[in-house]
Amino acid sequence: MSFVVTIDGPAGAGKSTTAREVASRLGFLYVDTGALYRALALKVRNGGVPPDDPSAVERCARETDVGLSGSPEHAHVWLDGAEVSDAIRTPEVSEMASRLAAQTPVRRRLVEIQRALATRGPLVAEGRDLGTVVFPDAEVKIYLDADLDTRAARRARELKQRGIAATLEQVREELTRRDGRDRGRADSPLQVPPGARVVNTSAMTIDQQVEEILRVVRDHPACPGRGAGDEASGAAGTPGPGPQRG
Ligand code: C5P
Repeated sequence: MSFVVTIDGPAGAGKSTTAREVASRLGFLYVDTGALYRALALKVRNGGVPPDDPSAVERCARETDVGLSGSPEHAHVWLDGAEVSDAIRTPEVSEMASRLAAQTPVRRRLVEIQRALATRGPLVAEGRDLGTVVFPDAEVKIYLDADLDTRAARRARELKQRGIAATLEQVREELTRRDGRDRGRADSPLQVPPGARVVNTSAMTIDQQVEEILRVVRDHPACPGRGAGDEASGAAGTPGPGPQRG
């Protein structure tokens, strides 16, 4: 198992932007685990699979090939051989991903894929259960949080940039619903992992978040390339072309 940095937290806390930049600066692999849940959700939605039928969802999860490729700056998400990097970013897919994420067979399948990625080199993985379930022995665990208004404003801005119209109130409701589900589910609920550094990003810029996490990671005695500045450590930060398979 390689050196692992986990970043968990609720939606809109700044996990993706921060994790991507930290991975890029360290030359580590970037693993956006939410993208895997979203890719499966896209298939369930488009394929007319009943999301509340556990056996239909389990079958779909088993038969579906989801993966990640590319660099932190140019990450690609794959579903059954097709790129779905943009298609998975809609509010409808967010909602479906959070419903499916409560189902154990879905989590089991996607956790398997996430753990397989850790054999490729040092990585920064972000999501909801990385430090608690997927990589409980991770060298560095971070929990990013921010107040609801800040998170809603960030998410609304992100949706606007993607050309998706949503009022601040709609985004607040969406985040509250998803966070409630993520925190309340029986399997792998969102919580602060034991031993995690909690960073509240409400009043922080992205640069400040990135610098704080880089400091924690570089302080770890086993951090690859420690003391070598921002250059990649020669680790497998960028997998080869094409979809990564589970
Ligand atoms: O992080 P993102 O918002 O893209 O994740 C979409 C949904 O996938 C979350 O609301 C959550 O329900 C689920 N998820 C999860 N565990 C993870 C990553 C995402 O349950 N590790």
